[in-house]
Amino acid sequence: MSWTTRSRGPRRVGGTALVVGAGMAGLCAARVAAERFDRVLVLDRDTLPPAPAPRARVPQGRQPHLLLPAGARCLEGWFPGLVDDLVARGAVPLDLCADFYWHQCGGVLRRPASALRGPAMSRPFLEDAVRRRVGLVPGVTVRDGVTAVGLTADPTGRRVTGVRLGDGSTVAADLVVDATGRSAHSLDWVRALGYEPPPVSVVRVDTRYVSRTYRRSGPAEGGWKAAAVVGEPATRRLAVALAIEGDRWITFVAGLGGESPPVDEEQRRAYVRTLPSPVIADLMATCEPLGAASTHRFADDRRRHVERLRRFPLGWVLLGDAVSSFDPIYGQGMTSAALQAEALGRCLDRTGAVDRALARRYFAAASRVVAVPWSLAVGGDFAYPGTEGPRPAGTDLLNRYVARTVVAAQHDDAVALRLNEVQAMVRRPGSLFLPGIALRVLRRGRATGPASERVLPRPARA
Ligand SMILES: Cc1cc2nc3c(=O)[nH]c(=O)nc-3n(C[C@H](O)[C@H](O)[C@H](O)COP(=O)(O)OP(=O)(O)OC[C@H]3O[C@@H](n4cnc5c(N)ncnc54)[C@H](O)[C@@H]3O)c2cc1C
Repeated sequence: MSWTTRSRGPRRVGGTALVVGAGMAGLCAARVAAERFDRVLVLDRDTLPPAPAPRARVPQGRQPHLLLPAGARCLEGWFPGLVDDLVARGAVPLDLCADFYWHQCGGVLRRPASALRGPAMSRPFLEDAVRRRVGLVPGVTVRDGVTAVGLTADPTGRRVTGVRLGDGSTVAADLVVDATGRSAHSLDWVRALGYEPPPVSVVRVDTRYVSRTYRRSGPAEGGWKAAAVVGEPATRRLAVALAIEGDRWITFVAGLGGESPPVDEEQRRAYVRTLPSPVIADLMATCEPLGAASTHRFADDRRRHVERLRRFPLGWVLLGDAVSSFDPIYGQGMTSAALQAEALGRCLDRTGAVDRALARRYFAAASRVVAVPWSLAVGGDFAYPGTEGPRPAGTDLLNRYVARTVVAAQHDDAVALRLNEVQAMVRRPGSLFLPGIALRVLRRGRATGPASERVLPRPARA
């Protein structure tokens, strides 16, 4: 079912790979590099906590992070047994289709059982588990409290030879992976070597989040473990609830296009009541809040067109949010990072060296990976008033079709399943247009109208 291609196996490149940033992208890159390089050094400027905890330099870590099945597949492949271990420690096993109450376009989507599995947990919980495993991989060293401030290069300036650190020292490497997040700090550093950064597409969304955790004492009414209630685009409002470790729910309320959800609990609950289904407002009303609410503002979708780079130094690549970061309401960032890391591994296996061919192949492959979440996120964002930027051709037509698909998914298991597979990044968006699905969409998405909430949802399976 996966749309990624598989390599024949890791090929030894040798030497040292240096990964700047120990976020999810950096950790995935380190795991992939470890099978190909003699040594892998991961540096992070943050203090990395010994147990799951939010980090100062990753403020988004306090917000809900859903790991999509395509990302879970990569992580489980790199760390066999990870998913079982996460669940044993409290993560919530989730069938993204059967366990997900999804209200959009005036009704609730069908919830057939599916193979779309991925445990639900907080970002710090996942990152901690992955970081501990990366630290155990032979040849890998993770150092925290270390800030990279520049690149070192050979006398010609054509090949990167390592990084400069904040204390003035240098670390030598054959490959430097910039996994510093959406700021992509190394773009300034390659500019200092005389190279232009890649062209960038920016779509302004101004999404504002307010999140909070609540005690979870049992299943939600209806048996769901995750819920999304999406208001009509004109309201620019939506809310999500997710069961996570520690017998907790985490909820977020999001406003798009500058719409600002209240931070005050009562006002926010009243705000969530304005959404077309009461399930998340009811959860907030009946569960005990834990800790304070936290806010986050996401200004824009940002895609760096690394595939268009013509001049770049050898031995340097970008990975994760540094390549592209998408409106988080679609939950794609960690999965995109994992798929980019997987692509880097495949490219190393093809070239067997850190050369121009590697960079060209990888930049093209990373661009193919991010093209899918980019089209889903940017396309979806343009359904909301206030979104500004380059609008991909056919967006309005596509959004009308997607809205019909959502309505059809309220009545038709096959359509609901396919829609979830696309959201989960295990099938390409084009699969929504294949005749078997398109005919159902055209028939059910128009004639029947939204489903009654009294009929749906049905209890999740164990
Ligand atoms: C509000 C919000 C909600 C989100 N929800 C989801 C979700 O539900 N599902 C999902 O998959 N994704 C989600 N994401 C996206 C997700 O957080 C990222 O896409 C993903 O974690 C990959 O990020 P990254 O590792 O590239 O960058 P980051 O997580 O930002 O990590 C970058 C790391 O680099 C380090 N660093 C930076 N500069 C330096 C330097 N000079 N020297 C050394 N270290 C440095 C930082 O300390 C940090 O640890 C969300 C994002 C936001 C903002």
